[in-house]
Amino acid sequence: MRNSNQRYQQTRSRGQGFNWLRLVPIMFFGLYAVYYYFSHSETVPFTGRNQLVDLSREQEAALGYQAYQEILANERVLTTGEAPKQVQEIARRLIEAVRKLDPKADPGFEWEANVIESDQANAFALPGGKVAVYTGIFPVTANENGLAVVMGHEIAHAIARHGAERMAYQKLVQIGSMAAGVSVSDMSPAARQAVMGALGAGAKFGVLLPFSRDHESEADEMGLYFMAAACYDPREAPKLWERMAANSGQSGGQRPAEFASTHPSNETRIQRLNALMPKALEIYQKYCSGLPAESG
Ligand SMILES: [Zn+2]
Repeated sequence: MRNSNQRYQQTRSRGQGFNWLRLVPIMFFGLYAVYYYFSHSETVPFTGRNQLVDLSREQEAALGYQAYQEILANERVLTTGEAPKQVQEIARRLIEAVRKLDPKADPGFEWEANVIESDQANAFALPGGKVAVYTGIFPVTANENGLAVVMGHEIAHAIARHGAERMAYQKLVQIGSMAAGVSVSDMSPAARQAVMGALGAGAKFGVLLPFSRDHESEADEMGLYFMAAACYDPREAPKLWERMAANSGQSGGQRPAEFASTHPSNETRIQRLNALMPKALEIYQKYCSGLPAESG
């Protein structure tokens, strides 16, 4: 009796079946991720979305500052002429608007806005309130309101701490794939590679990309409110994205980085902006005198 039982256990442990113990690291990672999320959860101002951010404002601002200095050192920064003056004025009005809408939304970032001479139709904001606009975007923004759409969107990325949130998720994805690496460590190299490849693609297309698309929609929404409270005509926003779509078609698939792959389609984006327009116009009416004059 004992003999056959022993033999049974031996065949079982030598068998081809999946060893569930391998899942222990993944389970620990899952528990850790849940714990991590809830202990580092913050609320995005204006949209109320919960987000995972594990950097302090100071750490975030320091990272943004460093990256900004590096970028500016390698680019031609315009210091004279109309463009820098206009960009700085729009930034000033937008940030003032953010503070009017919610005094707690701006954590006291040291805002800075520069114009970079470049053919790229691009703009960016780094964590901590560092904004840059490329001269190549001016033909697309076309007017002051259009420029306010782009800058409102960028300032929203910084206010919503999207950079820091992305870093927190990338860290979790990294730890997660390490845990998965332990779980698959006694598979054959080919099987391991297949599983890890699938997990990597899953993390990219299932977590990080959709998540960037959410960030883009959130920045569109918040940017729309900011520009309205700063008394720029929010109805320019859908028009700007139409021009942006036409522009990216023209430049033969060479789409600007910040407005690239991670983005909701332009149609979806324009539909969403139009749906938010009544609220944006309400904000405009509250902070500015009357409704914006109908522009062509
Ligand atoms: Zn964006």
